[in-house]
Amino acid sequence: MGRIFLQHIGGTRVFSCASCDTQLTNRSELISTRFTGATGRAFLFNRVVNLNYSEVQDRVMLTGRHMVRDVTCKKCEAKLGWIYEFATEENQRYKEGRVILERALVTESEGFDDQQGQNQNDS
Ligand SMILES: [Zn+2]
Repeated sequence: MGRIFLQHIGGTRVFSCASCDTQLTNRSELISTRFTGATGRAFLFNRVVNLNYSEVQDRVMLTGRHMVRDVTCKKCEAKLGWIYEFATEENQRYKEGRVILERALVTESEGFDDQQGQNQNDS
């Protein structure tokens, strides 16, 4: 027990935990950069891996009432942002199941393509 299984998301422009460098998501999962978190600028992602989730919390935001869970790094438990479970406003529903990562808590780096990026045309 206690073993942590980390997923490898691959792709280019990888976003990682700023504390321990665990891969979290990549640029192709990025939906919006126009969010604000506790530490300032925050990004909305379609899919993020290697997270732990808190209990659901009822939070009132500028865009209305939301049910959210705080998300932390699966490896080092650093706080990274939150995930939207449920939005009460109809026009905010697109955020459900999506994840906010705070810019100050993640690092963005050039990743390596998982073969697809290589030219394997041998015809
Ligand atoms: Zn970490």
